[in-house]
Amino acid sequence: MELIMNKGSEFISKVIYPASDESLQPNTICDGDTSKINFFKTADLNKQYRLQLTAMHDARLDNVTIAVVPDAVWTKGRQVSESDAGNMLILFKESYFRTHIYPDKCAWMTHELAHCQYRLNCKTEKFYQKKLKTYAYTDLQSNHPYPNNLVEQYAFAKQFQFLQKQGIHRVEIHGFLKVFYSDEDFIFFDRLLDEIFE
Ligand SMILES: [Zn+2]
Repeated sequence: MELIMNKGSEFISKVIYPASDESLQPNTICDGDTSKINFFKTADLNKQYRLQLTAMHDARLDNVTIAVVPDAVWTKGRQVSESDAGNMLILFKESYFRTHIYPDKCAWMTHELAHCQYRLNCKTEKFYQKKLKTYAYTDLQSNHPYPNNLVEQYAFAKQFQFLQKQGIHRVEIHGFLKVFYSDEDFIFFDRLLDEIFE
């Protein structure tokens, strides 16, 4: 998932960076509901989530900040994760993040880490934002460059490849995507899944 949608930017600016002081660091927030947001570095992830971090093979990602946001202040609806790659920040909805039996079975952590990795590979935020608006499959009839853009193509590819290595079948990936995306988005997903599960 990504931050280009206004709802995401609004959420991060209001909940994570509520003050006008742009230098405010996430871990200095201590007022109201935001005090319940739990921040830590990816280097401190538990064993189950660490598997996804190590699979990225990129030490630069050890310094990404994870914010676990209580459901009561989560405004992204059904979406369970969000990245602010420019600030090396990944947000998770608490109830999803703390699922015990099969935590993050959809590998959204990999997806969001891939956003951060893509941003690290871009020299500037402007360049990253440009890639978010650049169509990935230009022959597809998309009305807007989400999710059919270069950054999402990269992030979803990493996510699907990780799941594939875990023995997850294409049909299961299709199933969980249905929860979050509309039929028209599957023009993009089916193409990408074709490439990975060829
Ligand atoms: Zn994304």
